[in-house]
Amino acid sequence: MKPTYFSELFTRTLRDDPADEDVDSAKLLVRGGYVRKMAPGVFAWLPLGLKVLKNVEDVIREEMASIGAQEVHLPALLPKSVYAPTGRWDEYGENIFKLKDRHGSDYLLAPTHEEPFTLLAKDLISSYKDLPVTLYQIQTKYRDEARPRAGLIRGREFIMKDAYSFTLKEEGMKDCYAQERDAYERVFRRLGVDYVIVRAFSGPMGGSESEEFLCPLEIGEDTFVKAPSGKAWNVEALKTPREEEDFSSVSASRDIETPIDGSVASLRSFLDREGIEAKILKNVVIRLTAPDGETTLAVVGLPEGRQLDLKRLEACLSPLEASLADEEDLKSHPELVKGFIGVKKVGPQGGPGSCPYFLDAHVAKGSAWCTGSDREGAHTLNLVYGRDFGCDKVVEAAQVEEGDLSPDGSGKLSIERGVEIGQVFQLGLKYSKSMGFEVAGPSGALQEVWMGSYGIGVSRLVACIAESHRDGRGLIWPISAAPFKVQIVSARKECAQFCSHLGEEIGSRGLEALVDDRNESAGVKFADAELLGSPIIAVAGKGYMEKGEVEVRDRESGEVSHVPAERAAEEIFNLSSRLRRALLCQSCLE
Ligand code: ATP
Ligand code: MG
Repeated sequence: MKPTYFSELFTRTLRDDPADEDVDSAKLLVRGGYVRKMAPGVFAWLPLGLKVLKNVEDVIREEMASIGAQEVHLPALLPKSVYAPTGRWDEYGENIFKLKDRHGSDYLLAPTHEEPFTLLAKDLISSYKDLPVTLYQIQTKYRDEARPRAGLIRGREFIMKDAYSFTLKEEGMKDCYAQERDAYERVFRRLGVDYVIVRAFSGPMGGSESEEFLCPLEIGEDTFVKAPSGKAWNVEALKTPREEEDFSSVSASRDIETPIDGSVASLRSFLDREGIEAKILKNVVIRLTAPDGETTLAVVGLPEGRQLDLKRLEACLSPLEASLADEEDLKSHPELVKGFIGVKKVGPQGGPGSCPYFLDAHVAKGSAWCTGSDREGAHTLNLVYGRDFGCDKVVEAAQVEEGDLSPDGSGKLSIERGVEIGQVFQLGLKYSKSMGFEVAGPSGALQEVWMGSYGIGVSRLVACIAESHRDGRGLIWPISAAPFKVQIVSARKECAQFCSHLGEEIGSRGLEALVDDRNESAGVKFADAELLGSPIIAVAGKGYMEKGEVEVRDRESGEVSHVPAERAAEEIFNLSSRLRRALLCQSCLE
């Protein structure tokens, strides 16, 4: 392997942060000459960046091969007809880049590939004998994200590894799911990426079981909750532990006059002033929008002090979208008296034409509440859920709060932030049913195929590695991802020949080296070596000239050793082996 000479490398390092990047990893990747932004959420990969990307892809390919997944490559440009049968042409809405060809036919740039993979498998497989099979690709995806941000983390063009498993039976799907999940763990560990696995909500992907791999990072847009046991959940997937209360001593419900403005705060001060002890049930009107655009109103009951979390609510009501209703919406339901909405005119007790009533899971069966009485200036006390009123569905509507109790009984939850680096889904029969993918089973009868889909954000992963491996001076690549394992700095002109020789020697041991042979000051070269973040930096300068020594530095720990020039290659090689072992051990320990 030949070393690369910095003077020949197509790159440019920058002293200052680019003005248009919002997170440190993106600033460093641009400053280090790894990537360049070409449009919002659209990046060009320079040689350095591409090397990291390929290293990440190699690890993924090895782990996919280890579970017998076969690599294919599908087009990004696909006709509408592929995504229409599952409804996702519409469901993905504005997130899809849609275009027309010269004949006026609709096309899209694929945001994900469940449909074309199902079609491809359907095209080639007609018998159970060809199952199970898992296919994958590492390919460019397109999503017209509302807010591209954080460099490669939320791009509009990005690289994904997406795999799809096809099996005859449900158990087969579960096995494939478990294999992919294990392979993901190995990928992230080998790349030195911290992750938590959270139970997820499958969203527009459909299916039943789904888990997300989140890289815990402050800059993340995903919030996850962690129990003292270490178990973690996506906020949307967290289930509130259900409780029941004994209502035998609660007297019959009764109305009271409440001369207040209808806000929860004014009701609270009224009850306190009057010395009435009661918990308040807030009833919030929401607008639900179906995928076909049709809207309906519904009412959600949740305890005073809890904020409504529309995303958690939507996860329970998928595929409906939820938003707060406005004055205009309320006109179509005059029984809903703003500020005094109760439980009698909604849900099962509301009768025909009434709005559906959803109750947040914090409202325990048997608990007693004070809520509106559906007339201005009055509320009802002692309304017991399960005795005086019911609901159409118990939902997770309240925002999760730090200190809430964990559903696994291990104690109080903490709220953390992370970036989703992968997600695995048990899709079940959703795609094979809607796309008519059946195979002849052992008896000859046709059977629908069980599917799973598994994604890793490959370009996002590069950014997450950068975000979690850096310091004030620059990047610090884990050796598995590093574009060059060693950066050799020639700090004096007189050392140039030796550095080139050292690069060759290291190369012959199978390590990629970048030799900084530029006509720059030693200071500039040191700064760039730290910015670029090779895990090992070797410097030949004053020490070499005076004592024949080379400085070998571990970029992460900062440990420096001074070794005789003739032993430098060996020392560097040994250090690289130690760094590799440390990564692997880290992976096997947990
Ligand atoms: P997010 O919630 O972050 O938008 P998603 O759940 O919509 O992601 P999936 O459909 O599960 O994404 O796609 C699989 C993987 O692709 C994700 O786990 C993520 O790592 C990556 N990914 C998704 N959207 C983007 C994007 N806009 N830019 C870069 N990577 C992305
Ligand atoms: Mg996802």
